[in-house]
Amino acid sequence: MRVCDILKERDFVLSFEFFPPKKKGDDRAFWDTIEELKRWKPDFVSVTYGAGGSTHDKSIDLALALHNRGFCVVAHLTSISLSRKQVKETLDVLKKGGIENILALRGDMPQDESFVIPEDAFRYAYQLVEFIKAHYDFCVGVAGYPEGHIEAPSREKDIEYLKLKVDKGAEFVITQLFFDNRFFFEFLELAERAGIKVPIIPGIMPITSYNQIVRFTKLCGATIPEKLLSLIESLKDKPDELKKAGIEYTINQCRQLIDAGVRYLHFYTLNKSPATNIILEALGLER
Ligand SMILES: Cc1cc2nc3c(=O)[nH]c(=O)nc-3n(C[C@H](O)[C@H](O)[C@H](O)COP(=O)(O)OP(=O)(O)OC[C@H]3O[C@@H](n4cnc5c(N)ncnc54)[C@H](O)[C@@H]3O)c2cc1C
Repeated sequence: MRVCDILKERDFVLSFEFFPPKKKGDDRAFWDTIEELKRWKPDFVSVTYGAGGSTHDKSIDLALALHNRGFCVVAHLTSISLSRKQVKETLDVLKKGGIENILALRGDMPQDESFVIPEDAFRYAYQLVEFIKAHYDFCVGVAGYPEGHIEAPSREKDIEYLKLKVDKGAEFVITQLFFDNRFFFEFLELAERAGIKVPIIPGIMPITSYNQIVRFTKLCGATIPEKLLSLIESLKDKPDELKKAGIEYTINQCRQLIDAGVRYLHFYTLNKSPATNIILEALGLER
């Protein structure tokens, strides 16, 4: 199914993000996670794509494997490490395999100085969206940044570029993680003011580990609100208590979004089920 239709037709849309298991031995644990999360009947699942190039085939294989198991799949595709020919080949494989949805991304700029960006690579996601829409019939989503993308000169400028992605044909937006809903609500307002009318799906990262949260927020530039920071700092050496308090924080964050009328939740599962299960149970999102 096409995610753009799902977003139009269903009252509430729940989705999960997965990444290709890194080691061969992780495959079993991955499929166990899928089994454990299946009960929530996600409206779609998304599969990340390694911008650096190492996990391309795994991403495609995983997207197809999930599709073949009956999930509606959004395959992420990052353009920065691919030539146009490679982009086309990848899209052809996904299309042939029955995938109907792509999350069109640029990918992070490679930090490895020896990495050579292909000469004709799409340097911005809007160019990838434009290419996909010109040559294929995929439903296309893009990334959005409630606090502004880390390289963007301002949130307002970043929204202009988001609008460009939508103008080129993007039909939905999934956001970067955020821990302060005010950023998300402001983002919705800025998007509306900019004339962005497609659904904007909040990306939710369950808080389960101090190091993980600090690392992720450093990478993407998201803010850890003062209250959350002091909470996780006080429990830094008590991982079980931190997990409990972190999950409670995420439950409240989701509750506030739902209470404000948000109809979509996209969970960054990190290929684990326990935290997402607890959060969804607390929210009463059984279907
Ligand atoms: C939901 C979600 C899923 C993700 N999945 C993956 C994944 O699977 N694999 C992965 O490697 N990464 C993933 N990322 C991370 C993403 O690749 C990075 O954030 C990347 O740095 C930017 O990608 P983008 O598609 O948003 O790029 P773009 O939209 O191209 O934006 C990149 C930067 O360029 C600026 N910009 C955009 N257009 C223009 C223009 N016309 N002129 C000048 N500046 C411009 C933007 O403001 C921004 O600062 C994901 C992010 C999100 C939010």
